[in-house]
Amino acid sequence: MKFNVVCRTLRLAASITIGIAAPGTGEAHGSRMTDARVLDGTKIANEIKAEVAAEVELLAGQGIRPGLAAVLVGNVPASQIYVRSKVKTCAELGLFSELITPPDTVTTEEMLELVASLNAREDIDGILIQLPLPPQVNAKLLLEAVNPAKDVDGFHPVNVGKVQSGQPALAPCTPAGMIQILKRSGLPIAGQNAVVIGRSDIVGKPIAMLLLQENATVTICHSKTHNLAGHARGADILVAAIGRAGFVTPDMVKPGATILDVGINRITEHEEFDKFFAGDVRREELFLLKGSTLIGDVHPAAYAVSGAYTPVPGGVGPLTIAMLMSNTVRAAKLRRGLPV
Ligand code: NAD
Repeated sequence: MKFNVVCRTLRLAASITIGIAAPGTGEAHGSRMTDARVLDGTKIANEIKAEVAAEVELLAGQGIRPGLAAVLVGNVPASQIYVRSKVKTCAELGLFSELITPPDTVTTEEMLELVASLNAREDIDGILIQLPLPPQVNAKLLLEAVNPAKDVDGFHPVNVGKVQSGQPALAPCTPAGMIQILKRSGLPIAGQNAVVIGRSDIVGKPIAMLLLQENATVTICHSKTHNLAGHARGADILVAAIGRAGFVTPDMVKPGATILDVGINRITEHEEFDKFFAGDVRREELFLLKGSTLIGDVHPAAYAVSGAYTPVPGGVGPLTIAMLMSNTVRAAKLRRGLPV
């Protein structure tokens, strides 16, 4: 079966700014004034992308061009936006990328064939299969068929196991980016009480493991946890990754804690807008214009209790693509036995 293939061999100059979130900006996201420090994920992502572009340049001198295959099945609009953005970033940083677009009628067998061909290709270092997949495709089987050395999403059990045992591996992009936010913002991890709300394979479990590796004392909370608010209040680092708008309220946050808000929730009702953002004039103007706004898993009033927090949007989100680029270069180096 033939799929549409778009090759991106064009190398574009990276237009990237470098910077670290400034402490004590005195401004929370929106118009609320607090002492909490905003952890600017866009700036940190740009810094990582600039480093990736420099590494790609160095590898080019050795005749190596890291390559990413992005597989986008069907016509899911959100997936199309994500994948386009990933392919565009590859071009900006000098990586090779190939977009493969099987139709939404594709079978598991056809997808397995495709993965096998990508596993065998010398010019492909990373294979990204954009989720969700249509129901007839066995996603688990497929993700396990990806060569772990090319598993730049870090979802393969081999990489999960390697991350757990502290071996060089490809860690999932969003959690790896969250660790970068903490480190590059000079926030301590070792010895801190970290509480992770949510236990998904994509965010909750891997961030818990990465925080443990950085010597935090980690508690994982989930839908069956008793006294979740009590656990959250003990957190020096509070991770919210559940997908529920404004779930974490001010009473659940220890004053001065660091909040990593992973949730991305869209609000379209004015009543709900008022519940979270009443008085935020600038956001309301945009809400009325666009008909929606994004909110994390943390209530904006809870950010004000924290010492530092990642806003939504512009916090954790931008790190995911930056770390995907970083993982692709890492995969290219690991596969060739180069130091990482
Ligand atoms: P998921 O639905 O796979 O997992 C949600 C987790 O939250 C589950 O483990 C569940 O047990 C827990 N949970 C649900 N309700 C709960 C409750 N009331 N109390 C305690 N725990 C509860 O979600 P996910 O893939 O981990 O994503 C979580 C959020 O993060 C979503 O909003 C998603 O859009 C967002 N996300 C953002 C990025 C990014 O910024 N790049 C990447 C991945 C996910």
